[in-house]
Amino acid sequence: MDFVLFGIQGSGKGTQSKFLAEKFNLKIFEMGGQLRILAQEDSELGKKIKNIIEAGHLVPTDVVMEIIENFIKNIPENTDVLFDGIPRSLEQAEQFNALMEKSNRQFAGVYFELSKEEAIRRLTTRRMCKICKTIYPAAYMNNTCTCGGELITRADDNIASIENRINAFFNETMPIISAYESKNIIIKVDALPPIEKVTESMMEKVEMFLVKSS
Ligand SMILES: [Zn+2]
Repeated sequence: MDFVLFGIQGSGKGTQSKFLAEKFNLKIFEMGGQLRILAQEDSELGKKIKNIIEAGHLVPTDVVMEIIENFIKNIPENTDVLFDGIPRSLEQAEQFNALMEKSNRQFAGVYFELSKEEAIRRLTTRRMCKICKTIYPAAYMNNTCTCGGELITRADDNIASIENRINAFFNETMPIISAYESKNIIIKVDALPPIEKVTESMMEKVEMFLVKSS
């Protein structure tokens, strides 16, 4: 079973995805990383991506699908994948669903639920180490990093840009989640509790889902 992650910035999706991948032996597909790798390859797809990036264009959906298909073809047989950052729109989701079906792959979405207000609170109160740039959540009590650096509020964490990103998620990505929900392939995880609690309930729910669908 493959998994597709959903969650707004601040939901802890990135942190939890690492735990999930480790536990269920999933290979992580992350679009940014794939683009960087492929752009350096001397393949047809690599050249196409390089041109798109150099022109400063967004990667069109058909190329996104080509990248995913290429990824799936190149991983060892029976490897399950954790997709992060894809699909982003209903259009992408429809093509993604078709590709999964064609490739004989089953998948479920994992949605880290968090309110917009809480996400904004978390994002505007987190701090970054002045020296090593490590990000610390609001709950971190010390004023210094483990490296000894001073913790400062991140300059780019301004409310307007955070709100824009969150609104884009609710407008463009929520319809995908609703569509998957109606197919009973969404696992909802409450992202409000502390990290360890979220991990615990995520593992429990994913295992239950796997048992139910096996
Ligand atoms: Zn530091």
